Parts: sequence; structure tokens; C-alpha cells
Amino acid sequence: MTAAPEVVSPKDGGWTGPLQGRRALVTGGASGIGAATVRALAARGAHVVVADIDQAGAAALAAEVGGSSWAVNLLDPAALTESELAQRFDGVDILVNNAGIQTISPIQDFAPEDFRRIITLMLEVPFLLIRAALPQMYERGFGRIINVTSVHGIRASPFKAAYVAAKHGLEGLSKVTALEGGEQGVTSNCVSPGYVRTPLVEKQIKDQALVHGIPEAEVLGRIMLTDSAIKRLVEPEEVGSLVAWLASADAAMVTGSSYGMDGGWSAR
Ligand code: NAD
Repeated sequence: MTAAPEVVSPKDGGWTGPLQGRRALVTGGASGIGAATVRALAARGAHVVVADIDQAGAAALAAEVGGSSWAVNLLDPAALTESELAQRFDGVDILVNNAGIQTISPIQDFAPEDFRRIITLMLEVPFLLIRAALPQMYERGFGRIINVTSVHGIRASPFKAAYVAAKHGLEGLSKVTALEGGEQGVTSNCVSPGYVRTPLVEKQIKDQALVHGIPEAEVLGRIMLTDSAIKRLVEPEEVGSLVAWLASADAAMVTGSSYGMDGGWSAR
């Protein structure tokens, strides 16, 4: 994997690095894995659009990395019209489908509207964004689609019906994108992390303690890290580096794959 190059901000006289001249869009870019990915792509020279419902967070991070922001609720169909998307994706070389949410509940109590919301945000929205990004990537003969899935894209877990279904679906969508785009210079891959130290996981620790009826302090050891070989949470920056490598020229022959970043979780 390529070492992170020195960060050169536009204020210092322009971008440098392996992604210089590339334009990237990261959904859910204001927090956690998305924010680490924004920083990793920008550090390698890309101009990054931080797309997030958190307007202030997206704007602050965009300012930090010299990128731009798109304050958007990806669950609002009015925000994703064909003409809006055509404009947003003009010139985007790298799309990172990362925005995600989680609801923990047994299926019989799972609210159908929660199920739909998760499937929409984490499967239908990536489809719509890939669909919008591809034509102009094909025209330029270059594109990188990187989908942040999860160990739950390959293995299930109780009480996460919508999340597991969405991530399995996104793994499949990513492979189809790879098959259709290969001859036109577009690669498509998934990054599938184990438990990563982010606000989403902090909330999940509380939710899982409730649903399993165990203290929060025990969730990490008894549920989250039981199957991990390296007994710690993944750091968001580690995922960001992997995404940045997949976006680089070094990964030109990598497509249709799913890269674990899970400390051995999926090997068991
Ligand atoms: P996070 O909660 O830190 O960040 C999620 C981001 O998505 C936030 O900035 C949030 O504002 C944004 N978002 C949520 N709903 C949105 C909407 N409707 N429109 C626009 N933006 C919206 O979460 P994270 O842990 O960094 O997760 C990022 C991705 O990584 C998710 O797809 C998640 O499933 C995946 N993932 C996380 C872990 C983990 O352990 N944290 C593990 C595997 C996969």
C-alpha cells in the first residue's frame, strides 16, 4: 500500500500527490469513516466534495481540506433528481458510497419504515449515485467507485436485518458495476470494515447492550471483538487509507473485489 504523501494544501501553491487532478465525492463525509476518507483522499491531492446531511460538519471539513461541501439529505428524493445529480457528478472521478445508519431490533419488532429507510440510504441511494456518475466516467475513460460495506456484507448478525440486507445488496451491486465498467476504465470495489471507532459504533454499543440485556462495558468484548484476531476496534484512518489506495492508479487492476479491514473477523 502506498504511504500517505505529505499534505499540500492549495494555499501552499497547489495540490500534489497520486490523486492530483482527481475530483472525489464522499457521502456521509462529515463524520467517522467518511471524514477519515475525505482527509485521506485530499492528502493525496484530490479535490473532495463532502456530501452530508450535517451541513455544518460538511462545510467545516471541506474548509479544512480545501474541498467543497454538498449539504444533502440523501433520503430526500427531491435532492436526487436526474438534473441535480447530473450537475453534482459532472467531473467526479471517484465516488465513495459511505453514508450509513443502523437500527438494532429483532425482526418481529423491526419497524417497516426503519427497514425501508436503511435500504434506501444504503442500497438504493448508492445505485442512484453510481447511475449518475457512470456516463461521464465512461466518457473520460476513468472512474473509481468505492462502496463502504461491512463484515455484515458477507456475514449476518442477529437484530440487524435491514443493515445486513443492505450491505449484502451493495456487495452485489458493486460487482455488477465492476463487470459493466471494466472495459471503460471504471473499477468498482467494496471496503468491508469490522467495528470501527466512530459515532455510529458508540450508539450501537448502547443499543446492543439493551437488546442483549448486558452492560455496555461487555458489548465490546462479548459481541464486537469475539471474532476479531486483532482484539481492538478499527481506526477510521485505516479505512480511509484503504479507500485512497483503491482510488489510486496502483489499484487499476483491482475490481469486483471486497477488501476486509476487520482484524481477521471474517477469517473465522
Ligand atoms: P458515522 O455515523 O460516524 O457517519 C455517518 C455519516 O453519514 C454522518 O456524517 C451522517 O451525518 C451521514 N448521514 C446519515 N444519514 C444521512 C443522510 N440521510 N443523508 C446524508 N448523510 C447522512 O458512521 P460511520 O461509522 O463512519 O459509518 C460510515 C459507513 O461505514 C456506513 O455505511 C457504515 O455502515 C459503515 N461501517 C461502519 C462500521 C463501524 O464500525 N463504524 C463498520 C463497518 C461499516
